[in-house]
Amino acid sequence: MSDMLKFTDTSQQYPEVRDAGKRNHDFDEIYTQFDPKQAAVQASRCSQCGVPFCQIHCPLSNNIPDWLRLTAEGRLEEAYAISSATNTFPEICGRICPQDRLCEGNCVIEKGFQSVTIGSVEKYITETAFENGWVKPITVNSESGFSVGIIGAGPAGLAAADILRRHGHDVHVYDRYDRVGGLLMYGIPNFKLEKHVVLRRHHLLKEGGIHFHLNCDIGNQVTLDELRKKHNAVLIATGVYKSREIEVPDYSLENIIPALEYLTTSNRKGLGDKVAAFDNGSLNAEGKEVVVIGGGDTAMDCVRTAVRQGAKKVTCLYRRDRANMPGSSREVKNAEEEGVQFMWLSAPKAFAGNKKVSQILTQRMRLVTHDTSGRQAVVAVEGEQFTVSADMVIKALGFDAEDLPVMFNAPELKTTRYGTLDINHQTFMTNLPGVFAAGDIVHGASLVVWAIRDGRDAADAMHHYIITNAKRSKAA
Ligand code: FAD
Ligand code: SF4
Ligand code: SF4
Repeated sequence: MSDMLKFTDTSQQYPEVRDAGKRNHDFDEIYTQFDPKQAAVQASRCSQCGVPFCQIHCPLSNNIPDWLRLTAEGRLEEAYAISSATNTFPEICGRICPQDRLCEGNCVIEKGFQSVTIGSVEKYITETAFENGWVKPITVNSESGFSVGIIGAGPAGLAAADILRRHGHDVHVYDRYDRVGGLLMYGIPNFKLEKHVVLRRHHLLKEGGIHFHLNCDIGNQVTLDELRKKHNAVLIATGVYKSREIEVPDYSLENIIPALEYLTTSNRKGLGDKVAAFDNGSLNAEGKEVVVIGGGDTAMDCVRTAVRQGAKKVTCLYRRDRANMPGSSREVKNAEEEGVQFMWLSAPKAFAGNKKVSQILTQRMRLVTHDTSGRQAVVAVEGEQFTVSADMVIKALGFDAEDLPVMFNAPELKTTRYGTLDINHQTFMTNLPGVFAAGDIVHGASLVVWAIRDGRDAADAMHHYIITNAKRSKAA
């Protein structure tokens, strides 16, 4: 314990952030990594709380104080063993969790001394584990003889696949995309999460015996019914992809683009794919005045992508103010440093242009009382309107679930009034026997760390179901 509690005389330090002038010209991650000394010193700031609020507010209940102490003592292999016991992808969470709202935002030394830099230490531990060959593919001692099908290779599906394979099951993951990762691969930009980090996990999972069926659209190429017949249990982890719309006149003008289409194109380009929509300029911000509508993490990813594509000017239009933004404050700060202009309390009222959008008629808003989400609601300020010029508008207003009962030709599959899947939250099972669900398709658009938690818990529930069913059939 003597190596710890250094927060009173050691100040908080994050890994170096690449200078905005340089990082604006490429898509590489903007944060560098701790060196061994920095990691040990920063980990030693932890006060080893008896009731660790960091852990309570980590969706995975990571044993943070223990791996911080082991890092401070230089016992990194043990630190990795503890950190990976509760987190399937600690190197990904260390990079992209909104730590300011989760573990670090609840660290008890935050008030007065600034939090321990938990996420950066988590990334450092895992990258060190990869460098030293401590991250091994799954080995299975005895095959269970049961098989599971997982629809969706996003973080929820992959976390579930990992746990189910460790239980010895024959795991088959189906995804309509050509690469695994879901939004880790095609939503989140490279400057937050480089794609080799996701591909490295794909290779490991494959080596561990998990079968991937890519370019396989469940509903179109294979039916849910067929999967149910083929496997002892099925997990639906398909995420949410339907763009939310706003009721604004002249929405049909060209160059008004859904955020995910824009980000997927950019990510594909970065991966070296041939993408006509980028090459012909329609989904490329180069030289354009870009306006992004929205205030969440997706909006921040869009504005920062547009900067890197060489946009002439990038503006974010958000109807509330900075304090009421749903996105991470760290991402807003990064965007500001990169030259993005924010128009707070501004909402689009109409689009104008000749075939292509050229202007947005914008309504000034003001804050009123708090709404049910804890954020302040807004109303229009009578008579205060102005125009913003734009030759590319990106809508980043959130996502809803696609109509799964229709998509899967399973009208009996029960959904909530939000279109997400209605499950029993104890068993993770939908109303269809043996069909489970996890991740955004259950909770709506959320976070990677919650998808991982959900995938892990759903996998344990599926294992329990398979084994219990097998015992019942044997007894019968
Ligand atoms: P997804 O990641 O969406 O994966 C679902 C998978 O299912 C996809 O691969 C899809 O192709 C597949 N699929 C869907 N339908 C079918 C079908 N019919 N047949 C076969 N396959 C199918 N969270 C953070 O924590 N930090 C961030 O910085 C962050 N940034 C984000 C940025 C953007 C732009 C977006 C959109 C989201 C961001 N999120 C972030 C949220 C996070 O990415 C999601 O909460 C998380 O990926 C949800 O995981 P999932 O596995 O449930 O779904
Ligand atoms: Fe913090 Fe996320 Fe890591 Fe949990 S998983 S410790 S919330 S960075
Ligand atoms: Fe350490 Fe902060 Fe967690 Fe306390 S809350 S155990 S100081 S990281």
